[in-house]
Amino acid sequence: MKYDYLIVGAGLFGAVFAHEAKKKGKKCLVVEKRNHIAGNVYCEDIHGIWVHKYGAHIFHTSHKNIWDYVNQFAEFNNYINAPVARYKDELYNLPFNMNTFSKMWGIATPKEAKEIISAQIAHLNIKEPANLEEQALSLVGRDVYEKLIKGYTEKQWGRDCKELPAFIIQRLPLRFVYDNNYFNDRYQGIPLGGYTKIVEKLLEGTPVRLNTDFLANRQELETAAEKIIYTGMIDQYYDYKLGVLEYRSVRFETEELAMENYQGNAVVNYTDREVPYTRIIEHKHFEFGQQPTTVISREYSREWKKGDEPYYPVNNERNNALYEQYKALAAQENKVIFGGRLGGYKYYDMDKVIISALELCQREL
Ligand code: FAD
Ligand code: UDP
Repeated sequence: MKYDYLIVGAGLFGAVFAHEAKKKGKKCLVVEKRNHIAGNVYCEDIHGIWVHKYGAHIFHTSHKNIWDYVNQFAEFNNYINAPVARYKDELYNLPFNMNTFSKMWGIATPKEAKEIISAQIAHLNIKEPANLEEQALSLVGRDVYEKLIKGYTEKQWGRDCKELPAFIIQRLPLRFVYDNNYFNDRYQGIPLGGYTKIVEKLLEGTPVRLNTDFLANRQELETAAEKIIYTGMIDQYYDYKLGVLEYRSVRFETEELAMENYQGNAVVNYTDREVPYTRIIEHKHFEFGQQPTTVISREYSREWKKGDEPYYPVNNERNNALYEQYKALAAQENKVIFGGRLGGYKYYDMDKVIISALELCQREL
């Protein structure tokens, strides 16, 4: 065996593992099926603007050790995510906070906002929200639900809000203060020079084979290393033998426009059903860019099918139960360890992926 570890996938999970393993004197080989490293945090330079090719990425964490960890590899700016929601011709601040409520109802105080929300849901008598609709209504009332949640969520997930789990909406902060920061985390920012540089540094000194699909070169690669860290889709690894795990995919329609500033914000969500895309990202605003042109991406959400990029796992009962079956298979492996968002069939933010890779390093190395 030539290597201690074969790492499948040059995303954040694989790169953090490779970096730590190298520090411990282990020999690793990384294989990546795409023609570039960095997985979904890959950034492409378009006339000086770092374009987040697989969807906008804002680094945020509450963990000081993870913030310190990433700051070894890049300097971060002081970007704070504050998306705007557009419902027909009306504009609202996100996440749901006093700016949203005062615009929606012409009120000024938290007491007034809470009274309106209570009045809008009193007759529903929701004790334990059974689905996303009930959860959203009980948190923000009928008006905010109808204008800012229902259409966006149904476009994003391709499912009725009553068929979606309540927890999806719980990741959004709800505040009765005038604060448009989308995240509650202590640390937040965008790496100067893009995310790809971080992964480049993590992979320094480790050989990487691009355009190499592990599954298409299984025989050769399986014998190249003592152990395999697999960050691809767990069901695909097993040739879908127990069934297919569902994902939502996204089509990005990216264009460069001959103007300096298109929408005045990095993120604008389109929350009505009639507009076919869920949001428009204007990449330069993540870095306070002053370039003469701008690059925007419209995001169209759709059901994943084989061959598409898998973005959001659909963690409903059926899929979670199926994943548990694959996990049981994985537990019997003594050579292969599954990790990352595809290996774990879980929506992980970047900081959580790094935490989970570092935990694996601690157990394994
Ligand atoms: P990936 O980045 O997906 O890397 C896995 C790699 O494995 C890929 O490069 C893939 O090509 C490769 N691979 C798969 N199968 C094979 C195979 N058979 N052979 C060879 N290579 C293979 N997180 C945040 O913290 N903030 C955000 O704002 C944020 N925004 C997001 C927006 C979107 C649209 C999405 C989908 C995610 C977002 N995330 C965000 C989450 C973030 O993208 C992930 O936490 C992170 O990219 C996960 O890293 P990973 O290494 O697990 O997976
Ligand atoms: N959401 C919404 N309206 C918005 C933004 C978010 O209803 O304008 C809901 C939607 O269901 C989404 C969830 O909140 O899936 C979580 O939002 P987040 O911004 O985390 O979504 P993502 O960035 O994953 O698309």
